Amino acid sequence: MKNIILTINGKNVSCLAGTSILEAAVSHGIKIPTLCYHHDLEPFGGCRLCLVEDEKSGRVMASCVTPAVPNMSIRTDSPRVERHRRNIIRLMMAEHPESCLMCSKGNRCQLRETAAQLGVGLQELYPMPHYKPLEQANPFIIRDLSKCILCGKCIRADHELAVVGAIEFNLRGFRSRPTAVHDYPLEHSNCTFCGTCVSICPTGALAVKNTKYVGTPQREFLSICGFCGVGCTVSIGVTDERMVEVNPGHLERTVNGSTLCVRGHFANDFLNTGNRLTIPSLRKNGQVISVSWDEAIEFTANRLTEIKTKEGPQSVALLGSSKCTNEENYLFQKIARVLLKTNNVDNGGYLSGRSVMTLVNEKTGGGCRINQLESLEKAHVIFVLGADPTQSVPVMSYFIKRAVRNGIPLIVADPRKTELTNVATVWLRLLPSSDPQLINALAALLLKKNAYNSSFIDRFTEGFSEYRDSLFFLDLEEICRVTGINVGSMDHAVNLLKGKEIAFVVGHGIFQQRYGMESMGAVLNLSLMTGSLGRGGAGLYLVTRENNEVGAWDMGTVPDMLPGRQPLNSASAQRQWEHLWQTRISPDRGLNIVRMIEEAEKGNLKALYIMGENPLRSLPQPERVKRALERLEFLVVQDILDTETTRIAHVVLPGAAFSEKSGSFTNMEGRIQTFRSAVPPPGDARPDWEILDMLSNKLGYPRRYGSLEKLRSEICQFIPLYGDLKGDGDVAWIKETSQKGLFHPDGKGDLIPFSPVVSKAEEVSDKEYPFTAISGSLRYHLGSGTRTSHSDRIRDFTLRGEIEISPEDAEKLSVHDGDLVRVLSRLGSIEREITLVKGVKPGTIFIPVAFNGNDVMRLIGLVSLGEPGSPGLKHCLVNLERV
Ligand code: SF4
Repeated sequence: MKNIILTINGKNVSCLAGTSILEAAVSHGIKIPTLCYHHDLEPFGGCRLCLVEDEKSGRVMASCVTPAVPNMSIRTDSPRVERHRRNIIRLMMAEHPESCLMCSKGNRCQLRETAAQLGVGLQELYPMPHYKPLEQANPFIIRDLSKCILCGKCIRADHELAVVGAIEFNLRGFRSRPTAVHDYPLEHSNCTFCGTCVSICPTGALAVKNTKYVGTPQREFLSICGFCGVGCTVSIGVTDERMVEVNPGHLERTVNGSTLCVRGHFANDFLNTGNRLTIPSLRKNGQVISVSWDEAIEFTANRLTEIKTKEGPQSVALLGSSKCTNEENYLFQKIARVLLKTNNVDNGGYLSGRSVMTLVNEKTGGGCRINQLESLEKAHVIFVLGADPTQSVPVMSYFIKRAVRNGIPLIVADPRKTELTNVATVWLRLLPSSDPQLINALAALLLKKNAYNSSFIDRFTEGFSEYRDSLFFLDLEEICRVTGINVGSMDHAVNLLKGKEIAFVVGHGIFQQRYGMESMGAVLNLSLMTGSLGRGGAGLYLVTRENNEVGAWDMGTVPDMLPGRQPLNSASAQRQWEHLWQTRISPDRGLNIVRMIEEAEKGNLKALYIMGENPLRSLPQPERVKRALERLEFLVVQDILDTETTRIAHVVLPGAAFSEKSGSFTNMEGRIQTFRSAVPPPGDARPDWEILDMLSNKLGYPRRYGSLEKLRSEICQFIPLYGDLKGDGDVAWIKETSQKGLFHPDGKGDLIPFSPVVSKAEEVSDKEYPFTAISGSLRYHLGSGTRTSHSDRIRDFTLRGEIEISPEDAEKLSVHDGDLVRVLSRLGSIEREITLVKGVKPGTIFIPVAFNGNDVMRLIGLVSLGEPGSPGLKHCLVNLERV
């Protein structure tokens, strides 16, 4: 696009052809008042405040919707323009109710601010407010549409950014207002309560609902959302050292821009609940007593040392957190390896299917670690497998929905109807755990059509001919039977995939399932065959549930890898870290989180140090886990909340939440985001890295780091992947270090092998338990719900986590909407209400996780993931009976 030159206020300015006059002016520091304009939204020209005058034609026009033209001569401040603007504001003010003193937008109201800038007093015309009833039944958003100025920002944010379509202008003229369909309350509409509309509304028409008046926060700090792996930038409003509000950062070049989801926007109120841990405590003779930090740390260090000396290093384990920062995870695993001499170190990310993601890491030599979500909008076709991003990682789903809105085909393979299946070009409604067969069948059909990228295959891969031969022998009829999908639907999908570079979005439905490894192998094969890997827009987008799953892995808080994802069984990696840390590292492969519980059960594991995890709620078979943890001689829990697990610990150490400390998180894109604390931790709680720093010193490390900067600079120096990690508020990217030719600029290097094709999988059925239960998240909770269940707003929304069942199965069982049923598996039972959902495949039910203390975990077996024969954590066989 070529540059053009025009004159604004007598100054020559240049801009790209097609730029609006408003943008041209703003980019040259010329201010024009606006109310309906937002840089993330399509211009609307609704408020008319941005009027400017064309000196040549004398025309007055809205600058946000008028393109700049070469040689134009524009005045943004002529008396005529300013008179018009003042009149517009006067009319708006006349319609606006006089409730400024109690308005929650307070000093941030853009209408008031603009009026003040234009010298318009509060009431210059006869007041004619247009009162509408206040809507505040839901716990998230208050709508006071009397204050609406019809700028349409909320509607455009809803349609263009979150792509939900919950609200639209209703009625016309003076009576027009943005409302949900049929003017229903938001809670009865398809609104997802992402709050994007609230943060973008220029007046108090939309506001965050609080239990008491908040007003304008005294200060605002940028931070990174502590919930899911998207890693949204948030702006934390603080008053009196207390977090009172969370909004999107509204910054360009952040993953979320002006959007958030309901958790990031509204669920952080859990941090202000009375359930926070504020003081270290010890359990002595059955009594919990508060102690000083010195006493707690000394006691912990002494007990860990005693047990290690007496029982050996394998008797001690450390369970870290995919919610804690990179710096904390690095120090945590260093304590395990250097001071306690054990590789028994893991984090909660294991449960999200890290072992399956490891396959991608191995096959690509770590080459797929960076995938920017914005690239999804440039994909040729998007294929979503085993993921419902609209619920688990909502901001990621906005990218997918925007891509679909722009005409990019979407294929979704999912046993149940989701919000994405509603907008998908093809929905492959497969039977649970039949993903590998489906993906292989699609590859076989593509081969039949000669639709594979031979130059890519020849240049970057090996083993294609064996792969092709195995696909040749697939029995498609049998696959249709096993997957429940007919050839016509597969063909439809294949026609969309043919000749395209594909963006694969893969989630926990694959990572946590029985055939996770086989499914992931099949996805990798398909991505290689179609030449989709390592291409902008295409490639693998692995959905990570927790905010720092990637970082905890990179920092080495895993039993089989050293920092920088270097395999523990690599002699050179071990030598390198022994040299860096000046110590010997145990060569013994450590225990993962599941094996820790098993070893505790057997009495082999004597001490466990848990940081930021609540296994009594997050792990399957909680009663079994509790019995195992109670066998331990010593259990330490470092956390921010009083949880099921802290209640049985011998030592409890109060840590700090993301908003109360500095650090860095690495999101699912490979973006390393640093942030600093917005508020101090409550009471005597401390940032986790400080606690670990004190502990490591007591355990014998000669010096304390003393500052986060020192810790960060060691990471930067020792872990090449994190060589660009910088100071607070900065963003860096993981450095790709793959030796595979595909990821080298000159294309030279190792080849990526195709994985073996699994044509037949064992079918699992049990007459006594004829249903397959699929567990999954709803957007209101994250993971096991330890944090979100303490949010007053989420609790007040009165979600019941009903079990979804197909109408056909409901009829067979003679149960109805709202009935209470008992769900039984071989391991336990739960009781919940049911809801009839047409999109649920007969023979399956869907159980939302995180409800009722995450009771669904009682049905599922505690098993290692990704190992042959492992049934996985995603599905289990159950029966249903009416209570
Ligand atoms: Fe936070 Fe994830 Fe929601 Fe973004 S999508 S606001 S990171 S929970």
